[in-house]
Amino acid sequence: INFHSARFLKSAARLDQCPEDTGAEVAFAGRSNAGKSSALNTLTRQNKLARTSKTPGRTQLINFFVLNDPAFRIVDLPGYGFAKVSKETKKDWDYHLEQYLQERKSLQGLILLMDIRHPLTEFDQEMVEWAYESGLPCHILLTKADKLKFGAAKTQLLKVQKELTRHRELVTVQLFSSLKKQGIDELSELLSQWLVP
Ligand code: GDP
Repeated sequence: INFHSARFLKSAARLDQCPEDTGAEVAFAGRSNAGKSSALNTLTRQNKLARTSKTPGRTQLINFFVLNDPAFRIVDLPGYGFAKVSKETKKDWDYHLEQYLQERKSLQGLILLMDIRHPLTEFDQEMVEWAYESGLPCHILLTKADKLKFGAAKTQLLKVQKELTRHRELVTVQLFSSLKKQGIDELSELLSQWLVP
């Protein structure tokens, strides 16, 4: 699978606005500022790809990208946690996101990005639970791994793995750095396995 060929397909606010539920897709989620846009740009080697998802009006939307084979998609879920949104908006948004995670048949797995310096926030844990309850594989990228020394990064990786032991059949974790181009092969390989089982 060639991730470099990714191009924007469409945005959706609700499940019924998503592209047809055929083929296979993987979704990327994470707290705002976790490094999701950088990771998507690094993976696809397109500096501006994820900017699409950051344009005003699109930040609350589910953004779909197709790969060279149009049966395969990458999905950029809205960044959560930071935006000062009202409780009503959050509730509404949670509802659509949870629906997407639970109902979407072509969804093969969730890539969850967390800043290595503060992983597993309340929101992150909520996402892990949603994925787990839906029987959806979840792969965690501990991003900005370059911010820690190698030993400290490794320690953090083990700590997160340990905290997720009860979910281990469905949850995996790796180190990632867009800055140092670390962890891209591991991620690409996993994505390929998810998309073409
Ligand atoms: P998003 O809100 O999750 O899409 O996060 P961004 O990709 O926009 O990144 C948020 C901030 O973290 C920006 O200032 C990036 O430059 C920085 N950042 C992202 N990835 C890395 C990384 O691998 N290493 C370092 N040191 N900084 C990063």
